[in-house]
Amino acid sequence: TIQIKHNFGAGPCILPASVLEQAAEAVKNWDNSGLSILEVSHRSPKFEEVMRKTEQLVRELLEVPEDYAVLFLQGGASTQFSMIPQNFLQKHQKAAYLDAGLFGHKSIKEAKYFGQVDIVGSSAGTSYSRVPEIGAVSKDTAYFHCTSNNTIEGTEMFSFPDLGVPLICDMSSDIFSRVIPISQFDLVYAGAQKNMGPAGMTLVLVKNELLDTVEHPVPSMSDYRIYRDNQSMFNTPPVYSIYVAMLNLQWLKANGGVAEIEKENIAKAALLYAEIERNPLFFGMADQEHRSRVNVCFKMHDLAKEEDFLSFAAERGMVGIKGYRTAGGFRASLYNALRLDSVKALVACMQDYEKQNY
Ligand code: PMP
Repeated sequence: TIQIKHNFGAGPCILPASVLEQAAEAVKNWDNSGLSILEVSHRSPKFEEVMRKTEQLVRELLEVPEDYAVLFLQGGASTQFSMIPQNFLQKHQKAAYLDAGLFGHKSIKEAKYFGQVDIVGSSAGTSYSRVPEIGAVSKDTAYFHCTSNNTIEGTEMFSFPDLGVPLICDMSSDIFSRVIPISQFDLVYAGAQKNMGPAGMTLVLVKNELLDTVEHPVPSMSDYRIYRDNQSMFNTPPVYSIYVAMLNLQWLKANGGVAEIEKENIAKAALLYAEIERNPLFFGMADQEHRSRVNVCFKMHDLAKEEDFLSFAAERGMVGIKGYRTAGGFRASLYNALRLDSVKALVACMQDYEKQNY
């Protein structure tokens, strides 16, 4: 018998069982067409319909304003680290960046290939345990870049600044997990492999007005306008990733959409943080007011026990709770498809361990 797994992995991550079933069926025989989705042209009317539906679901679920392009790209969120400055930052210009976690830090490194970077806030000095304060940003800044949820460190931004310059945000790990008004941002990007679908596709939402400001030449595969003007089909798109994302967004819609799932996500995080605070063996890594609802990071007071707790938890079906290699400790990711019951199981596991070891 297969033991039930509680998948707390940070990404790629848990997807709803019904989505996986439909995705598996489509590999064998897509909608009774006698063909696999893997062997059908991206230019076929049937796949063009998938593209249209997926875009429509994104627009509807995130309430994307009309004057924004919805793009499906490849190369992961990491490619956006360089594509953004390649489009919007030139040698003589500067861009403002928030240094709030390892991924934000990586985006800063890439931007420096294209122009000047002004780090207007950093929490590197406290191991990124909080979202830093944002310092002054001058009006001639090309854009301000931040990360809405720091996946590795377990911190999340709950408000976003209006600095009078374009606002660009990496929402890889909390997009579709809570209501965030897209209209505040000029460009939003996210690797799909958390709440959108499997790995292989990157979602970009970008205001047309921002695209209209680009005057210098940009190579085609890095030019957002090329993707916009070709409905993300300038070259072969990640067909299967987009298809499974469509299924997953249909699931989200059927479950009440982002506002409904946000309520569940708040309840899941509250339950786990309450146990971390109550249980004398554990403590949370992020500052309380900035702690993430999506990635819950915690440690044990007795470091020597961490390996033992990991195997204790593994025996009880807990998967993916080991912290990121540089952060240590534990990280439980509570993405949309992870149910409250799984969080209850983890809490019970922490309590059982306490009884045996305290
Ligand atoms: N930004 C954030 C916030 C992330 O969590 C990740 C990892 N999923 C990345 C960027 C890098 O994404 P990718 O692996 O898709 O390049």
